[in-house]
Amino acid sequence: MTRKVTIFGATGSIGCNTVDLIQRNQDAFDVVALSGGRNVAKLAEQAKALNAQIAVTAYDACLEPLREALHGTGIEAAAGETALCEMATRPSDWIMSAIVGAAGLPPGLKALEQGTTLALANKESLVTAGSLLKETAAKSGATILPVDSEHSAVFQGLVGEDMAAVERVIITASGGAFRDWPIEKLASATLAEASSHPNWDMGQRITIDSATMFNKALELIETHEFFGISPEKIEVIIHPESLIHALVGFRDGALMAHVGPHDMRHAIGYALNWPERAHLPVERLDFAEIAQLTFRAPHEMRYPALAQARWVMEEGGLAGAVFNAAKERALDGFIEGRIGFTDMASVVADVIEIMSGEGLGLAAIALDTVRDADHAARARADEAMTRRQR
Ligand code: NDP
Repeated sequence: MTRKVTIFGATGSIGCNTVDLIQRNQDAFDVVALSGGRNVAKLAEQAKALNAQIAVTAYDACLEPLREALHGTGIEAAAGETALCEMATRPSDWIMSAIVGAAGLPPGLKALEQGTTLALANKESLVTAGSLLKETAAKSGATILPVDSEHSAVFQGLVGEDMAAVERVIITASGGAFRDWPIEKLASATLAEASSHPNWDMGQRITIDSATMFNKALELIETHEFFGISPEKIEVIIHPESLIHALVGFRDGALMAHVGPHDMRHAIGYALNWPERAHLPVERLDFAEIAQLTFRAPHEMRYPALAQARWVMEEGGLAGAVFNAAKERALDGFIEGRIGFTDMASVVADVIEIMSGEGLGLAAIALDTVRDADHAARARADEAMTRRQR
């Protein structure tokens, strides 16, 4: 029997890996809808190759080129946030949420309202509105599966286990592009240097977020939200080889480690085939060749984002939305050349300082309150960047 699948963010790094797995076993899937952003040529190519019903671009300005590229194929074209949310309501058995950033929240939420299975790569949705996502899934009977490699690893380590027996969870980090740089040199890091990851081949934004460890900060919060594990039980360790993705520690002292190659098709494939395991086209590790695995503690001055994530978990409520929005805006500023590499964490710290007195932890989490907090934090981040530019 074929399974109906939909992919949000199909043209990105996670999206292309998902498309690759589906193409290798195309008879097993019926592709309902694909979304992309500005890469209209790729979106149209994927929609044709997978014979999708509809292709949706996030941007109105990209609709005409998308229509032209799909002309004569019978594949529908649409654009904008409303179209993205409508796409989520088309009956699908499995939906991949792989839009980057806070823009992934509304379609992800809409998908969960349908009671479908949502493979969640878009960690920003859990960080900004974790309780809303979980409540929506509980109400509709939807299932959320992790796609981040660390969270897929924890998920797999917990199969058949009693959560009450979990003592600790350790998520690993590569340490990013500058893990071996002297801390004093970080301020001068360029965009090109920050956009190159030592181990993983990922989108530009998440690669830079690995260098600052904002990505790991989001993952700390994601671990807390996804598994309901209290913050003090979650640890981060730098593991430069990036082969162990996470470890789950139990009350008898046992640690279950998930080991695998740097290939997102493992975690995506696990979610795509869950609850079964299917053959996946990923490298098989040779431990004699690897010879050694190394670990070191993350230095808090090199990675201030980790302490900021601990503040978010302590504060709760809308703190995640504020943190994520400030981080996204600071990242835009670095990509646009407005601020330097280390200014990103300083801008986020400024926004946290300004907004931490605003009762964020007590606020109700709904789509509109998350949006308001997001907009306010972006405006504050812009002000902080302007101050730093002077
Ligand atoms: P990419 O930047 O490679 O791709 C992002 C996708 O989202 C593209 O399809 C892009 O379209 C689309 N997009 C961009 N902006 C918008 C918007 N405003 N509205 C709607 N769609 C938009 O990102 P990644 O694939 O690297 O990451 C996707 C998500 O998965 C992120 O949340 C990331 O944190 C998470 N993740 C990624 C991993 C990785 O290995 N890459 C690992 C684990 C998690 P277009 O390119 O056409 O403009």
